[in-house]
Amino acid sequence: MLIMVRPIRPRFVRELPRIDYFKPRGIPLSTLNEVVLKVEELEAIKLKDLECLEQEECAKKMKISRGTFQRILNSAKKKIADALVNGKAIKVEGGNYKMPVARTGRGFGRRAGGPPTVCVCPVCGNQQAKVAGLPCSQMKCNKCGSLMVRGN
Ligand SMILES: [Zn+2]
Repeated sequence: MLIMVRPIRPRFVRELPRIDYFKPRGIPLSTLNEVVLKVEELEAIKLKDLECLEQEECAKKMKISRGTFQRILNSAKKKIADALVNGKAIKVEGGNYKMPVARTGRGFGRRAGGPPTVCVCPVCGNQQAKVAGLPCSQMKCNKCGSLMVRGN
């Protein structure tokens, strides 16, 4: 089917769910059926039904089209209804989603500690303490007068 071939764009999810498993009481694990709710499906339910946002806004937050959002939301509701009506467990897992860069952007040689503390002159290598509120690119080297770049 065509839908399998088309690459799926990731859906933006602000945070991972705190609880990822719901189990009905009194059903032995061996006979328990479960539905798997994707992380973006839970996010869709949260935005639309819990935070009561307009569908347009939900789609924007997840960086997807309204049509895609509607499809994800419908799928989520169907799974939840299935679980409630038929006494199935709900597992929240997987899917195709992306976290905001701020939460996942650690690494790549960049320090997690925020703005740089030192500016470096690209011409003579002189280092100066960064002045709060003034970007390195607007600071002049004390020795040669060139504009600085961020040091760390
Ligand atoms: Zn310099």
